[in-house]
Parts: sequence; C-alpha cells; structure tokens
Amino acid sequence: MPDRTRTPDDQVYHARPLPVVGPRQGPGLASLLPRPDPARPARSLYVHVPFCYHKCHYCDFYSIVDTRDRQAPFVDRLVSELEALAPWSLGAPLQTVFVGGGTPSLLTPPLWRRVLNALTRHFDLSQIRAGEFTVECNPETVTPELMATLAEGGVNRVSFGAQSFNRAHLKTLERWHDPENVPRAWALAEAVGIRRRSLDLIFAIPGQTLGDWDADLRTALDLRPEHVSCYALTFEPNTAMTARWARGEFARAPEDLEAAMFEHTLATLRGAGLDRYEVSNFARPGQESRHNLAYWRQEDWLAAGPAAAGHVRGLRWKNAPRLDDYLRTGERGFAPVVDVEAPEPRRNLVERLLTGLRLREGVDSAAVLCDAAALADGAEDRLARAAAGQSGLGLLDPSRGRWRLTDSGFLLADSVILALAEALDAARRGPVGSRQPEVPQHAAEFPGERA
Ligand code: SF4
Repeated sequence: MPDRTRTPDDQVYHARPLPVVGPRQGPGLASLLPRPDPARPARSLYVHVPFCYHKCHYCDFYSIVDTRDRQAPFVDRLVSELEALAPWSLGAPLQTVFVGGGTPSLLTPPLWRRVLNALTRHFDLSQIRAGEFTVECNPETVTPELMATLAEGGVNRVSFGAQSFNRAHLKTLERWHDPENVPRAWALAEAVGIRRRSLDLIFAIPGQTLGDWDADLRTALDLRPEHVSCYALTFEPNTAMTARWARGEFARAPEDLEAAMFEHTLATLRGAGLDRYEVSNFARPGQESRHNLAYWRQEDWLAAGPAAAGHVRGLRWKNAPRLDDYLRTGERGFAPVVDVEAPEPRRNLVERLLTGLRLREGVDSAAVLCDAAALADGAEDRLARAAAGQSGLGLLDPSRGRWRLTDSGFLLADSVILALAEALDAARRGPVGSRQPEVPQHAAEFPGERA
C-alpha cells in the first residue's frame, strides 16, 4: 500500500549539492538569457512538476512529497514563467514538450487544464501532434479524467515509471505503486488515443537475479511498448537507498551480474524489435524520444519549474530548486534562475562528446575535430589519437565520418568519453600538465524519463 508520509522540503534528498543561493535578486529572464534569435528559435520546452506522493529511496531528483495546498500556487507561478519564456520561441511552433518531475500525474485535472491552456496561449503547439508532447506518469495516479484532459491538451506520449513488476523489488526501491496498475494505466492512455507509450525499468536492484530481470523485461514486452528506458540502479550520495546500503541492510548487485543484465537487456529488447538508440534507451524505429534527442544533440530547450535546467546557444541555466524560493521569485517579479553558465567552447565540446557518444548515431568526427582545432594547438591531434586508441580497443567505430560506440563501447561508455575529454584537457594545458580532466557534471543531469 502507498505510504502517505508527508515530507517537508528540507528532508528531500539531493545527490549533488544544489546551489545554496537565494533567488536572483534582479530583473527577469531578458537580462540573463541570450537575446531571442530569429534564425534559431527554441523549439523544445521542459517543464518540471516537483510533487511526488512518496519519496522513492533511490531518487535524487528534486521533488517534494505532495501537499495539495501548494499545487495551485505552483501552477500560478509556472503559468507566469511560461509567459516570460515564450519570447525565446519567437512564435515558432514547438516541436517537443516534456513534462517531468517529480510526478506530473499528481496534478489535478483542473490544474492540468490551466497548465495546458497557458501552453496553448503562450506557445505555438500547432505542430506538436507531428512532434512530441510527453508527460511522465506514475501508474498509480492515472485516472480516466486525467488521461482525457492530457489528450485534449495535445499530449501524445506518456512515460510510465514502472521500474519493476516484482513486488519485493519495488519494496526494496520504496516504490509505492501496485504493479497491476501499469497495464491499467497503459490501457487508459490507449483509450484516449495516446499510443506512444514508454516504460521505465530499473535493473541491478539488490537481491534481483538475472531471471527476475528477464521476467520484468518479458512482462514489459507483453504490453508492446514503443519505447523502453532501462537504467541500472545507481546509489547516489545522500539518498535513503545509499544510507541503507551503508548500514549493511543489503548488498549491491555484483558488477558481473549488472553487466550480464545490461547485455541481456540489449539482446531481449532487440529481439522484440526495440533497438538501442542511447545507452539506456530502446525504441521501435521512429519511436525514439525526440525531446531527449534534443538534449543529447545539444539543441536549444527552454525550461520552467523548480530545479529545471535550460540551454540556449551554449548558455545553460538552472532554476531555484526549492519550491518556496521558486514561488517567492514570482512575488518579486524576478526570474527564478539561480545559476547561469555562459558558453565556454571547451565545455561545450566535452558536452557534445559526452551526450553525443551515448547515442547510436554518435558524433560527426570532422565537426568535433574542427572544434577541437579551434580550442588549442595540438587539441585536434590529441583528440584524433585518443579516438584511434579507443577504436583500437574495439570500443569506438570511426567509420562513415562518425564516431560511434560499439556494443562493447556502450558497456564502457564513461571510460571512452573520459579518455576523449582527457585528450582535450591535455591539449589545453600542454605536455607537462597534471590536472584531472574536467568533465562537466551537469551534462549528465538532463531531466530524463524517470517518474
Ligand atoms: S523516482 Fe520519480 S516518483 Fe520516485 S521520488 Fe523520484 S521523482 Fe518521485
């Protein structure tokens, strides 16, 4: 049964310390973001809904346990933020919208109608049916009214946080939904015409066997999903899961079992027609998450809601993570932004490698070498040598003008990316430097498909 424990804001677990600065004491977004560029309007929008019914023990996303009295003020603030962000789309039709969290499906239908009306009022959603409008849903919270409201508002894709169909493993994760509600929610989405449906699953849960994981994959495939995301359980700092592990309550899955599960995932999902297009994401042809592809291809996206992070022409920003701070900025007429990073060529290039190499399509090798050449003397050569080294190890395929991870390379994606980032860093500091390579941490923190 669900645990209805209420958790105040300050008990939320964060993996990485978020900035402990207050909301920016200044004017609005216009002074913080690059001027809207008619040649490059933002075509993607991420919206973060911070409420959850219960805090899952492995989760380091920003979320607070739902208190319904705060949903309405949140929506008021969100609506005003959407209006302030609209100029960066310059009236061009949005191609993707992704509402994540938290648990967006916890918002009541009347509040959802306000959000959807605001999106329609401030942005051009005329082409969203040809694009993608995704909402993350917890299967437990899905109702016929909610699904009908979303479908009427243009939502054409839902991502369900199933994680596992095994009650014991859900309990280990402190997920509170009943696995039988996944097919129920699945059918409710289909009944209102939302046929693009994705499932999130987690493997390498303490106590989970390869057979258990296979059973989860088979149950998921019985639903005939168009898209599946499979993540190995990670023990982020400052989560309840990590604290329980440190107290010796359970052992982590052995590395060789985790690797076997990863390989089994690839074989099973490929065999069912879902190919891997990103390290952890699988889709039928044409059913890839276009919104997440915008992140991984380093395109521009706007972001609204507490803790949301946006990107426009190399500049990145983050919103105030705490709901109270986020709400307060609205009262003062300020942007809710607490962190802005100006474009920086080396960081941008490392991010392109970091996210691009995680994709099956890889990166355009001539383009990244050209950008490396502009960074520092010798950077292009060092990067080319590092890529050749990874190719020699069988981890990188350099054919047809692109660098792509091989199946073995996907298993060691982090080390391949680190080797390339190290080559860029070495070029910048010269032959005698000794600093560690600087891989931007936030590049891996994009709002993903997890609920
Ligand atoms: S995993 Fe999803 S549902 Fe669970 S606490 Fe985190 S954001 Fe909320």
